[in-house]
Amino acid sequence: MDCHLLSHGISVEKDSLHDCCLTHGYNGRPFIIKLNKDNTVDWADVFDLKKILKDGKRINEKECKGCRLLGNERIFTDEGDYISHINLNHWNICNSKCVYCSKDYNGGDKYFNVLPMMKELFAYNGGKAINTEGELTFQGGEPTMLPEFEELINMFTEKKILVRIHSSGIKYSQAVTDGLKNNSVILVVSPDTAVKETYKKIKRVDACDRVWQNLEKYAEAQKEPDRVKAKFIIIAGYNDSIEEIDAFLQRAKSIGINRIVWEIECMYAARYQYDIPHVSMLLDYAVRETEKCGLTYEYYDGAMYVQNKKNNVIRDITDKAAFSEEFETLKERYKDRNLDYIKIFSQ
Ligand code: SF4
Repeated sequence: MDCHLLSHGISVEKDSLHDCCLTHGYNGRPFIIKLNKDNTVDWADVFDLKKILKDGKRINEKECKGCRLLGNERIFTDEGDYISHINLNHWNICNSKCVYCSKDYNGGDKYFNVLPMMKELFAYNGGKAINTEGELTFQGGEPTMLPEFEELINMFTEKKILVRIHSSGIKYSQAVTDGLKNNSVILVVSPDTAVKETYKKIKRVDACDRVWQNLEKYAEAQKEPDRVKAKFIIIAGYNDSIEEIDAFLQRAKSIGINRIVWEIECMYAARYQYDIPHVSMLLDYAVRETEKCGLTYEYYDGAMYVQNKKNNVIRDITDKAAFSEEFETLKERYKDRNLDYIKIFSQ
């Protein structure tokens, strides 16, 4: 049994290197090595350790045992010394203050320049240590806030390595645009609303129009229609309304966005074990309207779990007025369940 990340993945954390970013079981995150004081690693050690520690990780429930990705996958599972999948999670600086996000990400101060480490990887063994069929992902704070971001992205996209970026969209990036033009970037921006006032309440910064303007520039640059995605996290008490969904879809369509990501705020969804009647109903509405607009969509985990909970049966909306009335009744009934995020994160 193997997994391509166990063989050829790295996740760069604040002071250590792991095989992947998945935390499951107890402590999670299969560990490779601590970073040096100057935040670099010896790549020869990394490749040795990945091989030596692998068998132990496969049977350790605090690392890989039980992981759904541990299987008989053949892709990227040979023993060659190369990295295919890189995840960066070494900083927490952000330019947004989303209510549903932990203080660790709200304008945090953890950061180091990851570029020297990446340059060494690219140069290691005559350039054979990086597999161009893999990808780079970001998991920390806001990636465009990294001073080395533009150079980093160019380094990967020039080699046509796929880069997946989740960004607030507040700061425009020329490197992202260039990567979209050469089809090496997948960008997900999560405005969660198209309404200025709602944006301010959720993000606690005033940047709604700027984000949508940047999204428009990115959508113009994309070579394939689904490379730029607008994400909407349904947050009970903030944007859980039919009007919000309508406004979001209209704005996305008007600027050339083709792909919508639907998600449900994960703390709320998990607290009620994905049995969240009015939000579930709104998700159905969102999906049906996305289809009606001629756009495509995907779910992130919270939305997927909610749909799985009801066996992926999505309601048809034949009578919008009746649907809306039923939705509002449920929303009122469950409004006491809305979370006070500000209080939760100040504790
Ligand atoms: S098996 Fe799971 S936990 Fe282990 S490296 Fe692969 S993805 Fe990560």
